[in-house]
Amino acid sequence: MPRIFVTKDQIPNISGSDVHYLRDVLRMRIGDPLELLDGTGNIYEAKILKMEKEKIACEIISLRQQESEPKVKVTLAQALPKASKMDLVVEKATELGVERIIPMLTERTVAKRVKLDRWRRLAKEAAEQSGRAIIPEISTLTPFEEILKIKSRFDLALIPWELEKEKTLKQALRDFLTSQSPNILVAIGPEGGFSQKEIELAKRVGFVSVSLGKRILRTETAGLMVLSALIYEFD
Ligand code: SAH
Repeated sequence: MPRIFVTKDQIPNISGSDVHYLRDVLRMRIGDPLELLDGTGNIYEAKILKMEKEKIACEIISLRQQESEPKVKVTLAQALPKASKMDLVVEKATELGVERIIPMLTERTVAKRVKLDRWRRLAKEAAEQSGRAIIPEISTLTPFEEILKIKSRFDLALIPWELEKEKTLKQALRDFLTSQSPNILVAIGPEGGFSQKEIELAKRVGFVSVSLGKRILRTETAGLMVLSALIYEFD
């Protein structure tokens, strides 16, 4: 059954590009069932009542709560990668269960193109497809210094660093006394890595620098790997 995120005040109607998708791509008709999600965990079981050019009106049949969100809340601060790699990060991190993605600007970030509308659309589609109850937030481009400032809001902040020799991700998670629903921040560097100074600044405010293994991962792989490990450990 199709699942569509709509804003709370829109319910029980659907507008925008979802109208085209439901009518012309999925070829849905009056009486067909679908699920409307309001992005806060509510799922409305509905069926189509009326189809207009720009709007589909639905009838709500029942309401239930979605329970597909992981216990661990992960915010991924991802240094803006080159080309279309951010598309991949947004889509896969959404499937895995990320709560928020912050495109990040660091000393060695070379990519400049911020495609917020596109990333937000990809997050919405991936959330619908994977049965998420919320659409992960995709924040605006944020400088590394600002990421250091929000660190205090988290139970744990990780900064994977390929030159870290002391601590692995596994050890960092073993050392971390978990709360029921931990809030974890993960900062991933760009293709050229973090500078020594950035790592020092991050450690000074309490980030834990971790190794992700003996191989160097691409920036778009590193965040997804950490996210997978966190879901494995805490979901
Ligand atoms: N240019 C660097 C690699 C950067 S990889 C070099 O060639 O040495 C991009 C980002 O992925 C890094 O900033 C780091 O956050 C993460 N990363 C990749 N491999 C890693 C590893 N083995 N351990 C920890 N972090 C890693």
